[in-house]
Amino acid sequence: MGKPKIGIYGLTGCAGDQLNILNCEDELLKLFDIFEIKSFVMASREKDENVQLDVAFVEGSVSTEKDLEELLAIRKKSKILVAIGHCAIYGGVQAMFRGGEEWIERYKRVYGRENAVTLSKPLEPKPLSAYVKVDAVLHGCPIEKEPFLKLAGKLAHGVIPRTPDYPVCAECRWKENECLLLKGQICLGPLTNAGCGAICPSLNIGCIGCWGPIREENWASEADLLVEKGYDIDEIVTRFSVFGGTERAQKLEQFLRSRKEKGNG
Ligand code: SF4
Ligand code: SF4
Repeated sequence: MGKPKIGIYGLTGCAGDQLNILNCEDELLKLFDIFEIKSFVMASREKDENVQLDVAFVEGSVSTEKDLEELLAIRKKSKILVAIGHCAIYGGVQAMFRGGEEWIERYKRVYGRENAVTLSKPLEPKPLSAYVKVDAVLHGCPIEKEPFLKLAGKLAHGVIPRTPDYPVCAECRWKENECLLLKGQICLGPLTNAGCGAICPSLNIGCIGCWGPIREENWASEADLLVEKGYDIDEIVTRFSVFGGTERAQKLEQFLRSRKEKGNG
């Protein structure tokens, strides 16, 4: 059996996930030893796009027609597709907007006219799973070296890894931090995927949710608590929407405004 063939790709995003893979300096040679890397544009101009891949790692959101074409081609030639980083899993900050208007209205507001940028037609930014089957995910914004290497190791042995299904609060409690929410600060730890080691709350900074919303989040309960602590609805909704996507922010806003109208908020 030959080495597993892999490709590392980037759609619309900051390329931070690819950069962090490159930053695995001490382990890069081992990675090259274990895998046959067929495409990794950030590391090499040489690439072979006609080969069938065992694993494709894809970062970035689908934000243009070109992204979509690339993603469909990657999916077609890959046995396993792994979404890496917030943009690929949730759509990224580019999928965050308030109000119900279409992308074209926002685009015109920013660029002044409809066809200001002509590289590829924009689409409403979406995660990979909106268009193709995603077999595994690696959270982070950007992803971190250790979890990536663990994931790569499992994939090399043919195991499709599962990600932790508990919130940042668990890691924060293991570190015996004093809870910021109880001190009156906004912290999205209860709603956010664990894995970062609760870096921000450990430095007395509220979590802004960059590892993305956990599967069974109870945002209503945290929103209620923040209203109780005196935060206004706009601030809460903005905070929740940065890494949580538009749909969640809209639901939250409706929830808080209707509570307020009924006199409960
Ligand atoms: S500080 Fe934040 S992450 Fe830590 S326990 Fe409190 S809410 Fe959770
Ligand atoms: S914002 Fe939250 S999820 Fe992101 S690194 Fe900080 S603690 Fe971790």
